[in-house]
Amino acid sequence: MMTNNGAIENLPPQSPLTPVKLTSQDTFQFRCHQDIACFNQCCKHIDLTLTPYDIWRLQKRLGLSSADFLAQHTVPFELDAQEMPGIKLKTRGNTTECPFLTEAGCGVYADRPTSCRYYALGLMSMKAKDAKTDEDLYFVVKEDHCLGHYEAQEQTIGEYVKAQGLEEYNGADRAWRQVVLKKRSSGPTIGKPSTRSYQLFFLASYNLDGFREFVSTEGFNDVYELEEDIQQSLQNDDMYLMQFAFRLLKQVLYGEMTIPLRADAEERRIQRRRELAALKGEPEFEDRGYDEPIEW
Ligand code: SF4
Ligand code: SF4
Repeated sequence: MMTNNGAIENLPPQSPLTPVKLTSQDTFQFRCHQDIACFNQCCKHIDLTLTPYDIWRLQKRLGLSSADFLAQHTVPFELDAQEMPGIKLKTRGNTTECPFLTEAGCGVYADRPTSCRYYALGLMSMKAKDAKTDEDLYFVVKEDHCLGHYEAQEQTIGEYVKAQGLEEYNGADRAWRQVVLKKRSSGPTIGKPSTRSYQLFFLASYNLDGFREFVSTEGFNDVYELEEDIQQSLQNDDMYLMQFAFRLLKQVLYGEMTIPLRADAEERRIQRRRELAALKGEPEFEDRGYDEPIEW
């Protein structure tokens, strides 16, 4: 089974894996190639969590909008016990097979997701209590059907990660992983984020086209003071937009302020919500502060 690499607890039950933590300098023996007897076996039973950059690469590859990609190719799940939204690749019909699998192998190879690139490695991002940055640790996933472990090829994990094109994927998703990791490591201490915070998390993480529309709304620009060139970049540069989305998540969820607020943002936001409430004929709204970005 090709599985998530996000956390050690996501490993398949009864996995023969020995969870030895490895660093990028450690070596492991593995080679996957088209002539191997188990070719395609790993793609017949998938359980793949998608990252924001995975989704962007696949939707571009397939020529779909974010919304259409999400609707056609994904299923929601919860990333943690506090219902943080996650996305998995939908399997083909009633099978456990990847929808992109072909007789000749992966039908989206150049844009295959992070988990496919890591296999047969798993990735654990960890942050030690007093460390400034998070650290990537790896472990080898050894499953019976995978014969790649018996091929005579030894490499460092760093070499493997590079050969699989993962530096680009990890670079694009790093700030998002930090958001997820911080939530996981803080556990219940910061409380369960509101539904609206999770709506913003979903939009900013998985629906880049929707997020682009969101940052161009009057409500958003009533609150955030963005220079003209930044607004242009948000509209025209997908990778700039994605990194901005992760910054906004850090700001809204954890108070890491990197996006300037308008001096009168709070008054404008409250005034706007009053007007909306009046238009809808609703009673005076209850203001709950910055933790409600979707309603701006
Ligand atoms: S995306 Fe490609 S490599 Fe990944 S499971 Fe599907 S067919 Fe296999
Ligand atoms: S060697 Fe492993 S990763 Fe490669 S095709 Fe076989 S089962 Fe899949």
